Amino acid sequence: MNDISEIRKKFRRRLEVRPEALYPLFSSLMSLVGIGPSNIKKFQKLDIFYPKDLLFHLPNKFIFRKPVSTISEINFPETIIAEVEIKKYLLAKSFGPSKVLVNAKNFSFFITFFKTKSSFIKSRLPLGERRVVSGKLELFEKDYQMIHPEYILKTEQKDDIRVYDPAYPLTNGLSNKYISKCINNSLRLLGKVHDWLDDKFLENNNWPDFNSAIRAIHSDSLNAANAKNRLIFDELFAHQIGLNLVKSFRRKGNGKAKLFIGDLSKRFIDDLPFSLTGSQETSVNEINSDLENSFQMTRLVQGDVGSGKTVVALATMLNVVEGGGQVALLVPTEILAYQHFKTITKLMENLDISVLALTGTHKGEERKGKLLDIASGKCQVIVGTHALFQEEVKYHNLEYVVIDEQHRFGVNQRNSMLSKGYNIDLLMMSATPIPRSLSMVKYGDIDVSILSEKPDGREPITTALIPSNKISILIDRLRVALKSSQAYWICPLIEETEKIDLVAAQDRFSKLTESLADFSVGLLHGKLTSKEKVEVMKGFEEGAIDILISTTVIEVGVDVPNASIMIVESAERFGLAQLHQIRGRVGRGKEKSSCTLIHSNNISQIASQRLAKLKETDNGFEIAEFDLNLRGEGDIVGLKQSGLPKFRIADPVMDSHLSELARVEAEKYLEKDPFLETEKGERILYLLNILGNSNISGKI
Ligand code: ADP
Ligand code: MG
Repeated sequence: MNDISEIRKKFRRRLEVRPEALYPLFSSLMSLVGIGPSNIKKFQKLDIFYPKDLLFHLPNKFIFRKPVSTISEINFPETIIAEVEIKKYLLAKSFGPSKVLVNAKNFSFFITFFKTKSSFIKSRLPLGERRVVSGKLELFEKDYQMIHPEYILKTEQKDDIRVYDPAYPLTNGLSNKYISKCINNSLRLLGKVHDWLDDKFLENNNWPDFNSAIRAIHSDSLNAANAKNRLIFDELFAHQIGLNLVKSFRRKGNGKAKLFIGDLSKRFIDDLPFSLTGSQETSVNEINSDLENSFQMTRLVQGDVGSGKTVVALATMLNVVEGGGQVALLVPTEILAYQHFKTITKLMENLDISVLALTGTHKGEERKGKLLDIASGKCQVIVGTHALFQEEVKYHNLEYVVIDEQHRFGVNQRNSMLSKGYNIDLLMMSATPIPRSLSMVKYGDIDVSILSEKPDGREPITTALIPSNKISILIDRLRVALKSSQAYWICPLIEETEKIDLVAAQDRFSKLTESLADFSVGLLHGKLTSKEKVEVMKGFEEGAIDILISTTVIEVGVDVPNASIMIVESAERFGLAQLHQIRGRVGRGKEKSSCTLIHSNNISQIASQRLAKLKETDNGFEIAEFDLNLRGEGDIVGLKQSGLPKFRIADPVMDSHLSELARVEAEKYLEKDPFLETEKGERILYLLNILGNSNISGKI
């Protein structure tokens, strides 16, 4: 039983074969009383596919109906329950409302109906009899009235009206009453569940046990909040258990241990004009140890812009090269491919290694030659764009792939790249720091190395905010500054359409060409061909261009040390993380750098607070954390869209504290019971079934 593939197989089976007790909750919705085929589609709109999904369809709030007997108890307008005697009809003749006068204990009111047949009214509210009614009581002119009561019941049925009623998210054609009934039916199917959380833990958090929680949330407005927190925790806990299982299975085999001494890498590092920072060194060691291990590496290097991710990747790539494998560095843009190629050739000058760049611009004979060198293994280090994983590209023995700016690639693209070899070790690099709590939700199943510091000796970047009516002063200053350094000028992201961005950039370009006539002004935008982009970039790098006007295409990883001035127009339109990235393009040389954020003359307080944060700190993690705390403002939307998994009830941004707790608990638990083999493990497996991410079994 020590054989990991046996354990894996067995574990998969346990995940895939559902406990019998759960069958009813996973049967068709139609098995629930009251649900017919016509409603199935409507439920799907609410993300409800099985009875168990109904359990976690939570109310937004509770409707409160106040049982009253005297008028002094009512705060008009208010939804009440009252017992009344029917006194008198004022029925409509042709049009207009029909009214029925009723007496409660010490007050009277009218029950009002529109477009309702008198026969119906008389049968529901027979003269002289008593009824219990519920609805909103309001003051209309000088009378109290209740329009179309929600309930009219005989007095002996009065308990059918609930004082607190959950109000559910609805969709067309499914009423609250109906959904509520279906949820109650599925709660009946659930029966009693063995809790996977310990009493002590529940007590510490002041949470109910699962059985109480799942019922309270649908019926008990007083305890709903606590119950909800517990269920949110359950979902996040299930998620963390899943991630950690995937991770631990991944770290148990299925890869190739690379053999290397590390000579090449050492020579490379010794030749660098600087020494590695502490966290660069740690990351290099972590990666090397993964490479030497027999499992397939999936590791992310998270480091702020300018933290020096590239050399970390290169130092480790050389080890694989030394061991006889091919390595690929995949980047999202032509410009970046060209930049990295140049850096690598320079840094590896003395190492006698063959480096090759492949992008979409390489065509014809040139391309053929390159493909041949890749296939024959003549080339050991291959840098390139999406071209690297095209069908026709065959590798000799690709063993290690590094993906720079990994968020720019989709899962399928990543997989295509990984299919170019056998059990390829994967390193991803990301320059978008996200708060730790979210990082654990998003990357909990992979290994993460963090570059927490920036190389020493960098002058901090001075950040200034100016309103747009001061642009002319800025341009006067530029006239002086451009004599000794170069500048970027980033144009506003007006909409998600390149076209409009382009107009803004072209407009700025012609204005600056005029007002900075003594200097050479360049223009870079998404509509240029890749070749043109690289040409412009080259011009800027070599100093032929003094100031580069650009849409946000340069956002991604370019490195021109002599450019020390960054100007961003309409900065308030950018996300904070994005601005931080853009700013990171300067501050790379010896010269003192500056970043000027131009904003509209009148911006909101939140907007100016956000921009002020950039002025205050140059730490990407701190900025991300700040953004998270702005809750609902700022970049939260961006964060939410940044590929976080979907949850049914939890919100990893809002519930980040529970998320952290869930991670700690999950890790602690799996240390004791890594394959969920104990009785509690069985219970957790049950939780994974009802509230976990589907498809864990596909990943382990
Ligand atoms: P990023 O993490 O944004 O990709 P890069 O890898 O482009 O950053 O590195 C930014 C710059 O810092 C490069 O010019 C690189 O040569 C330089 N650099 C990297 N590591 C160090 C270091 N330890 N000391 C000084 N400069 C470094
Ligand atoms: Mg980079």
